[in-house]
Amino acid sequence: MSDVAIGIDVGGTKALALMVARDGRVLGEVQAPTPHDSKLAPGEATASALAELIKYLASLHGLKASEIPVGVGLPGLMRKDGRLAYAPNLQTASGADVGSLLSVALQSSLVFYENDANCAALAEHEWGAGRGINDFVMVTLGTGIGGGIIADGALLRGRSGFAGEIGHMVVEAHGVPCTCGGMGCWERYASGSGLRRLIRDAAKEGRLSALLERAGSAEDIAPEDVTDAAAHGNDEAIDLIRQVSWWLALGLANLVAILDVGHFVIGGGLSRASDLVLPFAREYLSDLVEGYDSRPEITITSSMFEHRSGAMGAALVAFERYP
Ligand SMILES: [Zn+2]
Repeated sequence: MSDVAIGIDVGGTKALALMVARDGRVLGEVQAPTPHDSKLAPGEATASALAELIKYLASLHGLKASEIPVGVGLPGLMRKDGRLAYAPNLQTASGADVGSLLSVALQSSLVFYENDANCAALAEHEWGAGRGINDFVMVTLGTGIGGGIIADGALLRGRSGFAGEIGHMVVEAHGVPCTCGGMGCWERYASGSGLRRLIRDAAKEGRLSALLERAGSAEDIAPEDVTDAAAHGNDEAIDLIRQVSWWLALGLANLVAILDVGHFVIGGGLSRASDLVLPFAREYLSDLVEGYDSRPEITITSSMFEHRSGAMGAALVAFERYP
C-alpha cells in the first residue's frame, strides 16, 4: 500500500511524469524530451530516460524510486505483459519489452503498463469529465489520435489489449499515407498534424494570406496561429477549423455507429482549441450520425486535465495494480 504513485505519459516528443496522491491530487511534475536514439537496442533509450525521470521525481519527494508504484502509459499497441508490440510514433521502442527494461533500470517490481490513451480514459472516468459515466470514449487529439473506450464502466481492452486504436480507423479510402503504413487513417485528418496538412493545402491555394505573410512560409504557420486567428474572426482560419471539426465529427459518428456511445471526452494538444472545434463538431455530428434525432443526446466535452490526463491515469493504473 502506497499513498502516492508516479504516472508517466510517454509521447512521441516528450515524457511527462507526475507524482499523484490516491485522491488524484498532483503533488509534483517533471518532463523530459522522449529520446529517439536508434544506436541502442530497441527500448533501451526509452527505459533509461524514463528511469532517470522517475528517480529525479522520487528524489524531489525524499523517496526511493524502487519503493513507489509506477504506471507508464506508452503510445501504440501495448501488450498486457509490458511489451510494446508496435509503436509507429516511438519507433526506437517498437517491439521492445519496455516493461522489463524499466524494471531492471529501477530495480523495482512495482512498474505497471498501459496504452497512453487508455490511461487518459481511466483518469477521466475516475476523477474527470467521464466521472459517473459508464459508457464513453476518450479521444486524444495530439500529433495523432489516441482512444480509450470505457464500456459498462470498465476499460475495453480487446483480445490482446489493443482495443481503442481509433486513430487508425480509415475515413478516406486511398487517402493520405499514415505513419502506421496505412492510408486515409482518421488521425491524418482530425489531429494536430491533420490541421497542419490543411494549413499547407490552404496556403498552396492562396488562402491564409495574412498568416502566411507573418510566418514567412506555410510550414511555419503553427496550428495555434490558425486557432488564434479563428478566435479573432479570421474567416479563412474559421474555415479550416470547420474542416478539421467535420473530420473529427465523422470519426465520432463511426464510433457511435459501432459502440452506441453517448459521450466523448476530447483531450490532447488540439483540445486547447475545443471552444472553437467542439461547437462545429456537435453541429456536424447531428448530420453524420444515423438516426441522430431518434437517439438520446450525444454529448462532447473537453478533458478536465488537458495534457495531464494520460500521466494521471498511468498513476491510477499503478494504484489499481499495486493496491
Ligand atoms: Zn494509420
